[in-house]
Amino acid sequence: MRYCRFQTDAGPQYGEVVDRSGEPWIERLLPPFEEDPWTALAGRPFQPIPLAAARLLAPVVPRKIVCIGRNYKDHAAELGNDVPREPLLFLKPSSSLIGPNEAIRIPAISQRVDFEGEIAIVIGRRAFAIGPDEDVRSYIRGYTIVNDVTARDLQKSDGQWSRAKGFDTFCPAGPVVTDEIDLLGEGAAIETRLNGEVKQRGHTLDLIFPVERLLRHISQAMTLEPGDLIPTGTPAGVSPMKPGDVVEITVQGVGTLSNPLIAAS
Ligand code: ZN
Repeated sequence: MRYCRFQTDAGPQYGEVVDRSGEPWIERLLPPFEEDPWTALAGRPFQPIPLAAARLLAPVVPRKIVCIGRNYKDHAAELGNDVPREPLLFLKPSSSLIGPNEAIRIPAISQRVDFEGEIAIVIGRRAFAIGPDEDVRSYIRGYTIVNDVTARDLQKSDGQWSRAKGFDTFCPAGPVVTDEIDLLGEGAAIETRLNGEVKQRGHTLDLIFPVERLLRHISQAMTLEPGDLIPTGTPAGVSPMKPGDVVEITVQGVGTLSNPLIAAS
C-alpha cells in the first residue's frame, strides 16, 4: 500500500494513494498510525483528489529520526572519511521535519548547506533488541524519501552533528510511504537533482550496512516505535544549495520529493 499525509479542512489526515491511469490519487482516508492530536476521519465520505492537488505534509509523525552516516563507500570517500566499522548513528530532531514542496530555510550562520538524498525506513511495529534470527520485515511499515539537509561547515566546526543537521526545515520527507519496494530484496535506486541537473545516483544494493543490519544494530540501543524514521545514508555527489534553488530526490516506486530553498529571515 502507498499512503500520504495531507492537510484537510478538518486538519491533517492520512490518505491511501492509488494509481488512476498512471496518475497518483488520494482515494480514501486512513486511520492515524500513531497517537495523533487530531480526530480521525477514516471511513467518512471522501472525494478522491489527485495527489498533485493535495497540500502534502511529511508522511510520518516520528518520535525520533535515527540517521546513518557514511553508509555508501563513495560518499565517505568524497568527504575524506574512512568507512565506519559499525553503523554510525546520529539523531535529527522531529522539529526539523517538513513536507514535500515546503521551503528549506538556509540559516544565515552557515556558508554551505548541502542536500543528502536518502531512502528512509518507516517503522511499523515497536522493536527492541531484534534478535539475529528474527525477520526484520515485520517491523517495517514501508519506505519514504528524506533529504538529510546538512550545514556542512557547522558539522565540521561543531565536531558533533546535532546543530548542523537539526535546523528547522532540515528534514524534508515524502511524498508517500510505500511497502511496494523491497529494500531487503532487489533494493531501490535513488537520484538527486539540483535545478534539474543530476547530482547523485545511487542504489541501496551499495549500502555498506543494509537495512537488516541497521534495524538490528539500532534496536540494541533504543526502542523503535511506529512512525520512527530511519534515513539510510546518502550516496556520493552531495553539494551545496542556495536560495532560489529547487532540490528533487526521486526513488522509483516512491515518487519525487521536491523542495525549494529560501534564505531564513
Ligand atoms: Zn545523511
